[in-house]
Amino acid sequence: MMTYVFRFGGGISDGSAGDRNMLGGKGANLAEMASIGLPVPPGFTISTAMCIRYYEEGERFPDELRQEVADGLAHIEQVTGHRFGDAANPLLVSVRSGARVSMPGMMDTVLNLGLNDATVEGLAKAAGDERFAWDSYRRFIQMYADVVLELDHGAFEEALEVAKEDKGLTLDTELDAADLKALVDEYKGLVRAQWGKDFPQDVHDQLWGAVGAVFGSWQSERAKVYRRLNDIPGSWGTAVNVQAMVFGNMGDTSATGVAFTRDPAKGENAYYGEFLINAQGEDVVAGIRTPQYLTRKAREEAGARAASMEEAMPEVYGQLADVFHTLETHYRDMQDIEFTVEKTKLWMLQTRSGKRTAKAALKIAVDMANEGLITREEAIARIDAASLDQLLHPTLDPDAARDVIAKGLPASPGAASGQAVFDADTAERWAADGKAVILVRTETSPEDIHGMHAARGVLTARGGMTSHAAVVARGMGRPCVSGAGSLAISAKDKVMRVPTTSGSREVREGDTLTIDGATGEVMAGEVPTVQPELSGDFGVLMGWADATRRMKVRTNADTPADAKTAREFGAEGIGLCRTEHMFFDAERITAVRQMILAHDTEGRQVALDRLLPAQRSDFVGIFEAMAGLPVTIRLLDPPLHEFLPHEEAEFAEVAKASGVDPEQLKRRAAELHEFNPMLGHRGVRLGVTYPEIYAMQARAIFEAACEVAARGEAPVPEVMIPLVGTRRELELMKAVVDQAAKHVFAERGRTLEYLVGTMIELPRAALRAGDIAAAAAFFSFGTNDLTQTTLGVSRDDAGRFLGAYVEQGIYAKDPFVSLDVEGVGELVRIAAERGRATRPAIKLGICGEHGGDPASIAFCEEVGLDYVSASPYRVPIARLAAAQAALKKS
Ligand code: PEP
Ligand code: MG
Repeated sequence: MMTYVFRFGGGISDGSAGDRNMLGGKGANLAEMASIGLPVPPGFTISTAMCIRYYEEGERFPDELRQEVADGLAHIEQVTGHRFGDAANPLLVSVRSGARVSMPGMMDTVLNLGLNDATVEGLAKAAGDERFAWDSYRRFIQMYADVVLELDHGAFEEALEVAKEDKGLTLDTELDAADLKALVDEYKGLVRAQWGKDFPQDVHDQLWGAVGAVFGSWQSERAKVYRRLNDIPGSWGTAVNVQAMVFGNMGDTSATGVAFTRDPAKGENAYYGEFLINAQGEDVVAGIRTPQYLTRKAREEAGARAASMEEAMPEVYGQLADVFHTLETHYRDMQDIEFTVEKTKLWMLQTRSGKRTAKAALKIAVDMANEGLITREEAIARIDAASLDQLLHPTLDPDAARDVIAKGLPASPGAASGQAVFDADTAERWAADGKAVILVRTETSPEDIHGMHAARGVLTARGGMTSHAAVVARGMGRPCVSGAGSLAISAKDKVMRVPTTSGSREVREGDTLTIDGATGEVMAGEVPTVQPELSGDFGVLMGWADATRRMKVRTNADTPADAKTAREFGAEGIGLCRTEHMFFDAERITAVRQMILAHDTEGRQVALDRLLPAQRSDFVGIFEAMAGLPVTIRLLDPPLHEFLPHEEAEFAEVAKASGVDPEQLKRRAAELHEFNPMLGHRGVRLGVTYPEIYAMQARAIFEAACEVAARGEAPVPEVMIPLVGTRRELELMKAVVDQAAKHVFAERGRTLEYLVGTMIELPRAALRAGDIAAAAAFFSFGTNDLTQTTLGVSRDDAGRFLGAYVEQGIYAKDPFVSLDVEGVGELVRIAAERGRATRPAIKLGICGEHGGDPASIAFCEEVGLDYVSASPYRVPIARLAAAQAALKKS
């Protein structure tokens, strides 16, 4: 039994798919594929535990690893019949990193390891092809120098270019064996000059160098950035996979390719991928040659001429299709595959669950459930709820004028407009300043990830559908157009040149661009967008989610239009209607200011009487949009100074309306100044000091409810008092509301059901919830304020320092985005328990921003809230997240 080395291939599998933590994703799946009889070149995986020990022991390899690696090599030798370092019959291996989750920010691959001045001759003889052997050696030195020795790869590329130029050639493949031999000498010279030592001829030194480089790459800056962006702990470590080489570049019966078992962009149940005949490993991903399609249908649809694999290699294609089927049935999920064909023999090099767009994820989950491959519960659990955002957002208006300047590949769907920037750092900086940017690159690399993350969209001149830009953008949900070959992009000069019939035009840094990741179009300027149409799969999955969840999903909406949108997205009522937003209406603001600046109750009442009809009509609109559903209306909350006039003209207007001197008004405005308005005269404190304001709002609510009830279905108003900390505050305000209801019902000759409740958004309220519940029919957790008051962090100023807090792991996530379950969550839990103890049927909900965040929604399910309330576009996310939370709990 070995501790750190796990073999696979040739009928042996020391590991399996379940060993992902130990073997990394790549290693675990190679073992799994080998164990189900798929053709996998033999190899072994050095475990992540070794990576961790390597760092613990000062970056050195323990002796026992050396023995285990020797045993691993013996396994490969025994299966292949080749020997590592044997000049007559050499074994060549690939060395690849492989963490628990795929990390494009890490060292990827060294191919052809095991070649040296002696074995290259053996390879030439064995393959019967001298050119192939020297080309392999040339590639190996170049790759090794780049990823293991970390030398300047530009010099190697230049030497290759010069070699071609000297002979007047354009393609690498036109260089003959003698040219390549000379190039190898030159490469060795470059290594000596840059590294100060000769290129390692001992194949074991080569191997240990590569293993060390893989472990080293775990702590590279790129890898760290990627981990930070994706919440991957540094303690996981990476595994190393050492595997016998198979060659896709042994002539026209050899090939290499990447494939998805279903379309990762649209989700259709059709094979999807690219391959290159007579090519090695990374040529497909690197975007150097244009790959060919896998299926005939895809080729025809794209109007491409080069034969598809189905046409060029029908037999191997048939085997590949069988493998796709086996893998999907075995893993019960769409797979992302790498394969190589060596002289008509198919080899599988990798499989993993494929990254997909939100649209594809929905379709694949629904299709697979309908095919009986997975259950409906699994289908629900598989969708990343937050990713639904991608589907709900606007696409380009098909009728809008478009100034299309280029076309590339539709690499990742969605439309985005923004200012062009030509490097990742600028993208990050500008985005932090609140600008929308499009990152424009010749091609992207892992060093660009932070910029891709910050950008609204990504545009590249090179690379196919499986290029770095395309894969990473799809994973992040960023719209992306890749391989727009007509663009000449200079990052140095911060300009992109686009050919036109009369010459060329320029797009400079800061110019606005629009990209459409669904069509591949690149447009100058901003193009208007339209709301998306949701697919049938979306409705089906949402239906399954609705049947699964326990919690209701409401929306935060302040206008009839928002209420209507939210209802279309499936909202089951309003959880928070913030009445203050209605006060900013141009026609009302003067009356609002009059109300605030009045120096006595009579003056205030005059203004309130003017506001009443306007408020009533707002509520009528909202009740109608939510016919028959509960509507929670919160009485006035923000500090009054938010509404004050600023300009002379505004003071003059209010003065005229109130019949007072503008100077007097200004003095009154100055009196209203507060040092800390968030903790000042706001919320229920306004109602306590000016009960007539709440009385007017309550009257407007009940009059509107009666009006709507008279015409049709009666709404159930839930009148909510903000920022309550004591039972007495609530009792006083409840009396004001009940009084208004009594009057209105008497006037209208109609009695309606209604509730009076409170927000829980102060720690005192949470702790005293048992007492407060005596006066409250419901609690709604205002977790924005509750977070602010519990953490003692101002929600308006947190941006300055919270980033550093998250970066240093003080908070795992921004607590204003995802609930601080340990702190704020404990208060929520306490309040729910104490509230229920007093009033078992008390209705509990959440209306802070956290109501649309999947992790926070999971917590709400755990505490047993009755509903969550989210902004309209987040309603579908909340529906799905609530279903997932219910499944997790059951
Ligand atoms: C809250 O505090 O969580 C809340 C919903 O109210 P607002 O954001 O309006 O303060
Ligand atoms: Mg609040």
